[in-house]
Amino acid sequence: MTTKKISYLTPIRDSLGRPLKDLRISVMDRCNFRCTYCMPEEKYHSAFKFLASKDRLNFEQLNRLTRIFVKLGVQKIRVTGGEPLLRVNLTDLIGDITRIDGVEDIAITTNGVLLSKYAYELKAAGLNRITVSLDSIDADEFKLMTGGRGSLERVLKGIDEAAMAGFKNIKVNAVIKKGVNDKNILKMVEYFRSKSIILRFIEYMDVGNINHWQQEETLASKEIIKMISERWPIAPINENYQGEVASRYQFDDGQGEIGFISSVTKPFCSDCTRARLSSDGKLYNCLFASQGVDLRAWLEEGMSNDEIESKIIEIWNKREDRYSELRLANKNDPSKEKVEMYYIGG
Ligand code: SAM
Ligand code: SF4
Ligand code: SF4
Repeated sequence: MTTKKISYLTPIRDSLGRPLKDLRISVMDRCNFRCTYCMPEEKYHSAFKFLASKDRLNFEQLNRLTRIFVKLGVQKIRVTGGEPLLRVNLTDLIGDITRIDGVEDIAITTNGVLLSKYAYELKAAGLNRITVSLDSIDADEFKLMTGGRGSLERVLKGIDEAAMAGFKNIKVNAVIKKGVNDKNILKMVEYFRSKSIILRFIEYMDVGNINHWQQEETLASKEIIKMISERWPIAPINENYQGEVASRYQFDDGQGEIGFISSVTKPFCSDCTRARLSSDGKLYNCLFASQGVDLRAWLEEGMSNDEIESKIIEIWNKREDRYSELRLANKNDPSKEKVEMYYIGG
């Protein structure tokens, strides 16, 4: 096997010229919620077989792969799941990753229900940022969205605790389904802007196949922007960095910022620099991919870092995924098998 030598931290590029800059690591396929659009209880019931712990990447493997990805250009790591805070000793892993030379930013996406328990530990481990997913500020609507499992009160307490632990720029992501949880949008905006937390609305997407997504269920960002502007005028502001997925807006009255992630109506594939690693070690080039490449098998076959590195370069160089752009152009096959969100991570 030939090994390409590359200079440290020069990002590799895919076939559309997009650099590899971000790695999303799913550390856990299980979750303590059953959000109806992600892990509906009918399928993910008590008898559902999740991965055995021996089949998940262990911390040594995760560290090793992260170092390889960083060498190929990754600067930002996001730890996700399933529910990442269910992974035993997660803060040890976070501590290890923060010590990798070249990692500039490490964040977590969590449903927040265990955040009160771990916020201080996560801060001490060196975690930079937290994003909490919360789809409603109304207790009944919240229960409905989380499949009857979640406790709104505990999630809100977790967010407060994270702020007390010293996390700045906490973000809250809300997925809105038209006619399901769109009645309390303004109430949610009011709550979070009063706390200086950045709320971001995510358009409901056709990730996986289990949610039987229909375009009519997606509430377009522009409709939410209109609704909010009528109550509190907002204006667009510049992105923090090239390729930021959320369009940023600020309130005219100076009370903070709000964001919109419009993957359905305004896809951002041309700036997509993200690779994804499932908890059993499969590498995915796109959230809407059908198949991943089994990196855990390579580790277990005894491949060297150089070999793994050149194979990842080969995979990324060939990458041509741009599912959301093709969706907008009506060029996707609706019967395509896609990996599920809880498995690949958000
Ligand atoms: N359990 C953690 C959480 O909920 O934050 C991390 C994993 S979860 C899969 C990551 C994010 O994906 C959540 O914000 C969730 O709302 C979002 N998500 C899941 N399915 C989605 C869909 N079909 N469309 C848009 N966002 C989705
Ligand atoms: Fe769990 Fe997150 Fe999926 Fe909800 S969105 S079921 S919290 S993985
Ligand atoms: Fe990236 Fe795929 Fe999403 Fe496009 S559809 S932004 S390529 S993950």
